[in-house]
Amino acid sequence: MIVARRKPFNEIKNLVSGSKKILILGCGTCVAVCLAGGEKEVAVLASQLKMALALENRDVEIDTLTIERQCDREFIEEINSKVTIDDYDLILSTACGAGVQLSSDVFDHKVVVPALNTTFIGVAEGPGVWSERCRSCSDCVLAETGGICPVTICAKGLVNGPCGGARHGKCEVDPEKDCAWTLIYNRLEKLGRVNRMEQTLPPKRWNVQQHPARIIHEAYRRRYE
Ligand code: SF4
Ligand code: SF4
Repeated sequence: MIVARRKPFNEIKNLVSGSKKILILGCGTCVAVCLAGGEKEVAVLASQLKMALALENRDVEIDTLTIERQCDREFIEEINSKVTIDDYDLILSTACGAGVQLSSDVFDHKVVVPALNTTFIGVAEGPGVWSERCRSCSDCVLAETGGICPVTICAKGLVNGPCGGARHGKCEVDPEKDCAWTLIYNRLEKLGRVNRMEQTLPPKRWNVQQHPARIIHEAYRRRYE
């Protein structure tokens, strides 16, 4: 899932300054699970903003709406049957960066601003704790690395490791952290596949990642044309 956290309140307040009627648009999927932008967080943010703006004698109307996903056009288009978007002069989105951008595409005559900072793709480790697991490199090597991502977990993103700095299973960049390639070695040994360490993985195809607009365009074309 995509993990995000709310921007500092003063930053959000500045983002909405000058607006008279605001719609806070929540997203009910990833950012709801990580307690950053779902229905409850939208309600809290709306209350905080109303109080803060009232204390400054600013006459601002704030409505809220949370949809299932802001990264899916069909859910965003349903908004039109629930509220009149043209009544608002600003949409404050609590989706991840992808959701904010799609809302901005659909309502391209409206100002859409983000209330969150999108941080990473990760997994839940326990209550309130998420760890980064994928940097969406577009060329997954997990089959060769025992299901542990070197791009994300190795401090240098090495796809062939370890580097010469690993000491006693710890990373030279941050000795508090395990060396990703020691973790990979241990996992491959457990799986009886340690011979995989003898092969050199080819350089990653970063050029694929560097042109995401092309991938997005293709996906749009297949789905909407
Ligand atoms: S190699 Fe790592 S960053 Fe790349 S797709 Fe796989 S998990 Fe994600
Ligand atoms: S010590 Fe291990 S995790 Fe740290 S940079 Fe080197 S290979 Fe990567």
